[in-house]
Amino acid sequence: MAYDPNNVFARILRGEIPCKKVYEDDFALAFHDIAPQAPVHVLVIPKGAYVSWDDFSKTAPDAEIGGFIRAVGAVARQLGLDEPGYRLLANTGRDGGQEVPHFHIHLFGGRVLGRMVA
Ligand code: IMP
Repeated sequence: MAYDPNNVFARILRGEIPCKKVYEDDFALAFHDIAPQAPVHVLVIPKGAYVSWDDFSKTAPDAEIGGFIRAVGAVARQLGLDEPGYRLLANTGRDGGQEVPHFHIHLFGGRVLGRMVA
């Protein structure tokens, strides 16, 4: 699938739509999900234009992948979640239930999360 430069996260990256930002560096932007599913529900997105985890893991330069993964950890630590723990999730494609076609990782925390079921 070609990248849609007008998807909502691309517009957030361009500053056209506001977000509740929690973290930003050269590789990633993190902000609160508009419809939180847990006491902490943050989305971490790469600054580059990648449709999905599949696209990102296949085509992003190693430096962007490394920088993004480090950023996800930094976000969790900044939110104080590293010790109690947290959950990461990347819905991917149609069967994965992905709605926004800009790669993102959901970060959930703030309570004991239920057992994952597919
Ligand atoms: P997906 O199903 O993995 O693509 O998740 C997309 C997520 O983006 C959902 O949890 C939405 O609540 C969230 N979302 C959609 N629009 C916005 C927005 O404008 N700001 C913050 N979160 C959003």
